[in-house]
Amino acid sequence: MSATVTALDRPAAGLQSWIGPAIGSCCYEVGSEVAEKVAEASGRQVIVRGGGQRPHLDLILAAELQLASLGLESIQTLRVCTRCSSEWLWSYRREGAGVGRNLAFAWRTEISDVVERGESDRFPRT
Ligand SMILES: [Zn+2]
Repeated sequence: MSATVTALDRPAAGLQSWIGPAIGSCCYEVGSEVAEKVAEASGRQVIVRGGGQRPHLDLILAAELQLASLGLESIQTLRVCTRCSSEWLWSYRREGAGVGRNLAFAWRTEISDVVERGESDRFPRT
């Protein structure tokens, strides 16, 4: 995420982000070494103790914390677990290899600010 925010070459405070859906902490059990690496980059609060021996991770919170630490002020989250929502989302953890993919599209209807900066060629209208 840091590389993406840097590559956008804009003040981070003016960027908007949307996170989710993703596998929820209810279902995302990982090894302790994975949990520690994500916590190192995000904060310890992303590690959630599940009912079993292994830790669970809150990936949406991890992404939110990392984006906030980069300076983003507008972070929207959709806390829907892909594994628990079998009626409308695919999940590798639920269905295994060969599962479909979830896609999302985002766009702006007003590009006047891009045109004002003389960058309209970066975002062609097709
Ligand atoms: Zn779940």
